[in-house]
Amino acid sequence: GPALLFVKTSQGKEEGRRFYACSACRDRRDCNFFQWEDEKVSETRLAAREEYNRNHQPSFTHRQNVDRYKNFVLLPLAKRRFCQECQQLLLPAEWEEHSDHQFLCDITTAQLKSPSQLLYPLENKKTNAQYLFADRSCQFLLNLLINLGFRRVLSVGTPRLHEMIQSKASQEEDFSVRSLLLDIDFRYSQFYTEDEFCHYNMFNHHFFGGEAARETCRKFLYEENGERVIMVTDPPFGGLVEALASSFKKLMAMWRETEKEGHDNKEMPMFWIFPYFFESRILDFFPSFSMMDYQVDYDNHALYKHGKTGRRQSPVRIFTNLTPSMIVLPEEEGYRFCTVCQRYVSSGNQHCEICNSCTSKDGRRWKHCVLCKKCVKPSWFHCSNCNCCTLQKHSCEKADLGCFVCGKAGHKRSACPSLSHT
Ligand code: SAH
Ligand code: ZN
Ligand code: ZN
Ligand code: ZN
Ligand code: ZN
Repeated sequence: GPALLFVKTSQGKEEGRRFYACSACRDRRDCNFFQWEDEKVSETRLAAREEYNRNHQPSFTHRQNVDRYKNFVLLPLAKRRFCQECQQLLLPAEWEEHSDHQFLCDITTAQLKSPSQLLYPLENKKTNAQYLFADRSCQFLLNLLINLGFRRVLSVGTPRLHEMIQSKASQEEDFSVRSLLLDIDFRYSQFYTEDEFCHYNMFNHHFFGGEAARETCRKFLYEENGERVIMVTDPPFGGLVEALASSFKKLMAMWRETEKEGHDNKEMPMFWIFPYFFESRILDFFPSFSMMDYQVDYDNHALYKHGKTGRRQSPVRIFTNLTPSMIVLPEEEGYRFCTVCQRYVSSGNQHCEICNSCTSKDGRRWKHCVLCKKCVKPSWFHCSNCNCCTLQKHSCEKADLGCFVCGKAGHKRSACPSLSHT
């Protein structure tokens, strides 16, 4: 889909040169598309690019994959193979071509219903960064949204949540929740129909399936029979908040437009799952959001597993535009309700009388600094040189080196007065 317009700034200069680069890949090794904004593109280069794109399409279309799946499930167990190298379900006629590839045999219906277990997670940090929810966190999210009364889930980059919903819907009679998965990982098109999965880029709001796919999404957002919709998203953490927010606003607009009268001043309910240190960035774009204390855990992320079992604590939280008091966090995992703040907080998160809020962001007990007039991390102390709280081990001169943006001393890039906040 469309590239994003970036700007290269160099030290001390206010205006940089603008260029287009791939929206989805933040690593040039994954996609080397680069073009100065003011550059004239020759016919030959344009043709070469189109040629390149044609040669880099997936081997099957979504439609073809759906048909292949239908044939696949008709096969007896002994003939159901999955090529691990190509990450593809194989039909018997194709075995030959993949004979020197590693494959799995006897693919069961249960395996077909949990593609996120069958496919290997695309962990390359900069592009897919596929970190799958631990079962406990996924179950928690699902129960939470069911208890809040939602019956439709727009799963944006949450294949495991989608899969849990799909799998329950096919097994449990009275389970009435539905999900539509929007994700850039096209491998999922082998397991879901066009009504269940749209190949989508959340950094530029691009539907690869064109108008038909948009229409699928629009229809899904239309709250028939009072079935309320919530969007749940868990983007790659290296992603640009600005680009994500712009796409999410477009999805919100899509929802708003499905029902002219009812939704006028309302926002589509949303859970945006992201690390706590992005709080201020998210609030810049969505002032109605608040951050919940719940720590979201992952299966394949060594650092982001739950603290209670002696492993490290996860920095990943839920940001939502729903009323915080409605988000009930599990007491058996140590969360409690703060009656002053009117929300559930981590057990270690003490209510600060001076700030009049439960101020911890990371679950540990924070301490109030009277000089900074706010609560800070327990490991910080007030440095009179820097005039703020910071790590014990820091070099006060650091700020003297000069700001990366304007080159002046006394502040860092993040606090540069020459940059507007957004
Ligand atoms: N915790 C989630 C997975 C989050 S990992 C779960 O268990 O369901 C991030 C997800 O976003 C992956 O599924 C990845 O394929 C998807 N993704 C990465 N870049 C994307 C993009 N540009 N557009 C849409 N989805 C993207
Ligand atoms: Zn193969
Ligand atoms: Zn409180
Ligand atoms: Zn305080
Ligand atoms: Zn201080």
